[in-house]
Amino acid sequence: MSFKTIAVIILLLVYFWGLLLKIMQWRSAKNPIPLNVADVYDRETYKKWRAYNAEKSRLSILEGTVDSLAGLALILLNAYAAFAGLFSQTPFMQMFAVLLLSSLTFVFSLPFSYYDTMVIEEKYGFNRSSKKTFWMDQLKNFLISFILIMGIGALLMWIHKGLGDWLILVFAGAMTLLMLGISFLYPVFSRIFNKFTPLEEGELKDKLTGLLEKHGYRVRAIQIMDASRRSTKSNAYFTGFGKMKTIVLYDTLVNAMTPDEICAVFAHEMGHGLHKDTLKNQLLTFLQMLVLGVLAWLTLRSEAIFSDFGFEGVNYGFAIILIMSVEFALVAPLFGLLANAVSRRAEYRADAQAVEEGYAGALISGLKKLAKENFADLAPDPLLVKLEYSHPTLSQRIDAIEKNKKA
Ligand SMILES: [Zn+2]
Repeated sequence: MSFKTIAVIILLLVYFWGLLLKIMQWRSAKNPIPLNVADVYDRETYKKWRAYNAEKSRLSILEGTVDSLAGLALILLNAYAAFAGLFSQTPFMQMFAVLLLSSLTFVFSLPFSYYDTMVIEEKYGFNRSSKKTFWMDQLKNFLISFILIMGIGALLMWIHKGLGDWLILVFAGAMTLLMLGISFLYPVFSRIFNKFTPLEEGELKDKLTGLLEKHGYRVRAIQIMDASRRSTKSNAYFTGFGKMKTIVLYDTLVNAMTPDEICAVFAHEMGHGLHKDTLKNQLLTFLQMLVLGVLAWLTLRSEAIFSDFGFEGVNYGFAIILIMSVEFALVAPLFGLLANAVSRRAEYRADAQAVEEGYAGALISGLKKLAKENFADLAPDPLLVKLEYSHPTLSQRIDAIEKNKKA
């Protein structure tokens, strides 16, 4: 069997697996709602949620199908090699050509993103993006991801040419550093997309600062991010290495919640910090990168793979496409299962931290508000939760919070 046939089979498997998950999500609107979250939506809102879920699911099934068909067509027609033929034969330009064509497939997703944000989210009152913000975001996202993928390609080429078999470890290490760098730079990137203003003096600021200082952190600043420019969905996080932290609250959170509820949500975030949850995530990231390193090494060793897709010799851009969307896609669900299980445990522990700080009641009411605002699925299929959910369901979290409160 040629590598091309194997790739096509895997792409189809990945497509049908994704389809199965999306259908499960679509159908979860029929599941009965657990009693402890029965008051999150009133009758009217629940009807609205069901319609929202159905529209979102239909769109994502359609998008997944178009996306997969486009990917399959490019592979079946050897389009990457043909496109690369239009460019000069240097390895760098050959890589550039393939990654450019692959990035351009993002154009196919534009109508879906547009429909999702400007039609569905708009219809249900979530969207705050103007058309201009939407298009600017798309452009910025495209440029950032294209520069990033070119950087990764150049790195792979350089390591492969210079270090040969050491590729596995060096590439895995470099990719882990890159991932860490991105999460470190996330606050910087979010400044490209958002505006920040300091939280005004008062009870909330004192309480939040008190929470962090009690555990030996120092607060550099508490800032409010204008998330409402894009969406009404809310969140909070804190950033900064070592003991100096900057707290970021979405303005949507500050506007919708009582000071105690904000503190409860924040105490939860602090719980993640105290339990070094990001460190555990980083270890998992390294493990994934090691697998990617092995796949990259195996792929680049065999020129026959590339000639199956119409190339004369190794193409580093196409190697990345094969590794990411074919080879790694096959093991990705396993990593997802593991990472999500670890993450859900961390969520329970972070909730327990908020309970310990005395915010059990505020956390429950805050989480209910968040669920309502984010139009959360209150009764997702348990199998879907195991496979796909990084957070336990609201009902599971409330059960655990009440148990902890009594303990
Ligand atoms: Zn959390």
